[in-house]
Amino acid sequence: MRVSTPAFVLRRVRWSESSLILTLYSLDFGRASAIVKGALRPNSRFLGRIELFSQGEFQLSRREGRELDTATEVSVISHNHMLRTGFSSFAGAGLFSEWLLAAVSHGNEPSRPVYCLVEQVFGLLEEGVAPWPVVCGGVVRLLQLSGHGFSTDICVACGAEIADSPCWSHSGGGVVCGKCGESGFPVKSGIISFLSRAGNSSLESLSRVRLWPGGYIQCHSLLKEYAQVHFEHRLLLKSEKVMKEMLDAGH
Ligand SMILES: [Zn+2]
Repeated sequence: MRVSTPAFVLRRVRWSESSLILTLYSLDFGRASAIVKGALRPNSRFLGRIELFSQGEFQLSRREGRELDTATEVSVISHNHMLRTGFSSFAGAGLFSEWLLAAVSHGNEPSRPVYCLVEQVFGLLEEGVAPWPVVCGGVVRLLQLSGHGFSTDICVACGAEIADSPCWSHSGGGVVCGKCGESGFPVKSGIISFLSRAGNSSLESLSRVRLWPGGYIQCHSLLKEYAQVHFEHRLLLKSEKVMKEMLDAGH
């Protein structure tokens, strides 16, 4: 079956002398893998069209019951040049892609909201905004969209509104109040208000939110530990280290 879908290239792996296997997030099929035969030949028609983090219209040949599609034609929608050449944009796009691939396994239903989220996160990073708030905010949305949302305003143990000195419970699914504090651990209220805002306002406005030094690293660690409790498989985020080093270097 020949199909056509817009998709983002999230991973490129060399398969043979001249072929690549791409991991895509597509609008019509969700996560997909596609082999691109001859992609690495010097005169390949795919040259410059299947770059990492770029967005293209993919013609795919799909076969029932097979996980690997064959890409037959690609035309570029967005090159997203900065996502490969700007250090902080590259690290941010890499980390968000890893989160996406951890949250969305092969065979998941396609999701327009998830596709639009990738478009937004990549779009902002391509503009060169600070990567941490966009990545953390994007992850909060991704968790909501993949059925792993959490509470940031109502105690998950007793239902009371959270006033001050919030605690957090990974297994409970979010904040706990002072009275129920024993079922969680203390967490800075600045992180809770960021997480709450991330669930309710645009990523663009979020990209201007500044936390205290190291705040986003704490926020990301909390999200990672939370996801680890709720995902069925181990969460490996290789780009996290790069993002931390970048912050240390003052980017
Ligand atoms: Zn409570």
